[in-house]
Amino acid sequence: MATAPVQDYLEQLHAELAQVSGGTIADYIPELTRADPNWLGIAIATADGHIYQVGDSRQPFTVQSISKAIAYGLALSDQGLDAVLAKVGVEPSGEAFNSISLEPDTGRPMNPMINAGAIATTALVRDDRAPPLERLLATFAGYTGHAMDIDTAVFESERETGHRNRAIAHLLRGYGILESSPEAATDLYFQQCAIRVTARDLALMGACLANGGVNPVTGVVALKRRYVDKVLAVMSTCGMYDYSGGWIFNVGMPAKSGVGGGIMAVLPGQFGLGVFSPPLDAKGNSVRGIEACERISRDFGLHLFSVA
Ligand code: GLN
Repeated sequence: MATAPVQDYLEQLHAELAQVSGGTIADYIPELTRADPNWLGIAIATADGHIYQVGDSRQPFTVQSISKAIAYGLALSDQGLDAVLAKVGVEPSGEAFNSISLEPDTGRPMNPMINAGAIATTALVRDDRAPPLERLLATFAGYTGHAMDIDTAVFESERETGHRNRAIAHLLRGYGILESSPEAATDLYFQQCAIRVTARDLALMGACLANGGVNPVTGVVALKRRYVDKVLAVMSTCGMYDYSGGWIFNVGMPAKSGVGGGIMAVLPGQFGLGVFSPPLDAKGNSVRGIEACERISRDFGLHLFSVA
């Protein structure tokens, strides 16, 4: 992609997508309903560190489920592949993000991109260096290149109302998938979901994954290289909730979405793409986010499985 044409393209895309309506803002907690449905930010960060952005690309919002991909990478780094696989599978569930998709005999969650798997994964973020929340925030900072914080109102509200997630955590504890306090695991999970990001951040996070785990702007290792393919693989198969099959079919890039309205997509070796638009479809994916990614993939012929 040449420089000016990319910026021109994004301006045009932004103008067109601003006309696309549909979807509803997440309302399972009041804090999320304060989002402006018209917010629309798009950013691309290349694997060599160029950033293009349009619209509300610097508007903060909560990362929500996109954090699952980052936490999965950190758990792999902390525990190694076998220990993580023993607790969380890698099969798409085809079910909603808050489904109780556990293997019947073992209680192992189907994959790390649904809530059950994410709660089990987050509990695996631990080593001797620092408390898990600090490590999660530091890891996010490695990906984005700046200090990160949590939207405490969103966190507290999630914690207040998160009975289903808490129930899932207790079930996981019953099966021995969680080996310590379910309350501690959900607290950490709610905090990780409430980390504030921008579309620009998501693009850079994607660019780190596109660049073998190294932040292309700062040179910081955000994720050990040997786990990058694993994180991208589960994003490809499970990253867009129960639209994951349709997504990889139509867009052809690993991606992860969150109910805050963000989508992070990655073209390995090339770039990270961050889109932010709060109205969601019935499966919890950003309506205009999906549209943006579909158009970018189609307009530039970026489907990973295309040989043209
Ligand atoms: N905090 C939300 C939850 O656990 C995140 C869900 C999401 O982004 N899909 O329900």
